[in-house]
Amino acid sequence: MAEKSYEEEHPTKAFGWAARDQSGVLSPFKFSRRSTGEKDVRFKVLFCGICHSDLHMAKNDWGMSTYPLVPGHEIVGEVTEVGSKVEKFKVGDKVGVGCMVGSCHSCDSCNSDLENYCPKMILTYSTKYHDGTTTYGGYSDSMVTDEHFVVRIPDNLPLDAAAPLLCAGITVYSPLRFYGLDKPGTHVGVVGLGGLGHVAVKFAKAMGVKVTVISTSPKKKQEALEHLGADSFLVSRDQDEMQAAMGTMDGVIDTVSAVHPILPLISLLKTQGKLVLVGAPEKPLELPVFPLIMGMYICLHLSACGLFSCPDTRSCTMAFAAMKLLAAAAVMAMLASTVAVSGQDLGELAPAPAPGMDEGAASFSHGMSGPLICSSLFLSVLALLRH
Ligand SMILES: [Zn+2]
Ligand SMILES: [Zn+2]
Repeated sequence: MAEKSYEEEHPTKAFGWAARDQSGVLSPFKFSRRSTGEKDVRFKVLFCGICHSDLHMAKNDWGMSTYPLVPGHEIVGEVTEVGSKVEKFKVGDKVGVGCMVGSCHSCDSCNSDLENYCPKMILTYSTKYHDGTTTYGGYSDSMVTDEHFVVRIPDNLPLDAAAPLLCAGITVYSPLRFYGLDKPGTHVGVVGLGGLGHVAVKFAKAMGVKVTVISTSPKKKQEALEHLGADSFLVSRDQDEMQAAMGTMDGVIDTVSAVHPILPLISLLKTQGKLVLVGAPEKPLELPVFPLIMGMYICLHLSACGLFSCPDTRSCTMAFAAMKLLAAAAVMAMLASTVAVSGQDLGELAPAPAPGMDEGAASFSHGMSGPLICSSLFLSVLALLRH
């Protein structure tokens, strides 16, 4: 075959961690990035969140993965080069890239700043770019991205904390705003206290909303109330508690990505309350139509992970910076749940040791509580990249 190797496909060498098959194991990967085009921003990757989607994609759970696959779509770094027609960024700027890196720029969706709905939208990794080559994500040392899909990270936002906002953050910020669940006095339920749930609680509280966390696990209560500042906590398996809360909420943000019943959640809503589904279970959920007909006008919003429009992403990162939520404790609480993944998943996703690499670095991630591993894991990966 005349095809070029991954290292020679483009002019600039790059290094990352790639899944080679469905095992979920990542290993070192030498590849290349395109030259900085006239509208491109090139940046050094400093931080990247680990999203649950990365796990799904690494293992081809959704049947759309192409290997080698470099995951990562919560990417933050520092600009090292800009193209001749780039207007919004300069060398040294702190920037981020989320889940998409391209679109057609001419369809109705693109013209309405809704590139995430463009039929030709290009994902940050495992998708064909305009030039026909495969996109690679942020588990790597550098990115080159059209400035249209690059966001500026405000100065008062720590870069490590900014990364999760580019997928988890926008995923919950956007529906809170879009469905009017951002008004003081509104009562919102947040189902699931993983990565999305944490950020949803922080945003909603910062907006002056009354927040009730709903979880199957009573163990999350202290975290919800004391660390994240939620107003109340419901154990979804406790019939009495759920019964008492019926009809009290203006909206419910359901972040659970496993199959679960939604009727109990619908019951929590006031008439015309809004159920917003942002988790992505692998199998269909059962939709109880009768309660919907019986006067509960519910808006079901099913959105893919972090795929929101560019202005929304910009406003999300800026809002978060402005909300001054970023005291060290808050950052750690959020990072501690950047992604809701099981220890087992993470074990599988842990990188295989690179040649000559310190074993200690590879095992750095193990033995810590789930999501915190993600950040630590990635920091250890970055340490290797810089090596
Ligand atoms: Zn994501
Ligand atoms: Zn388009």
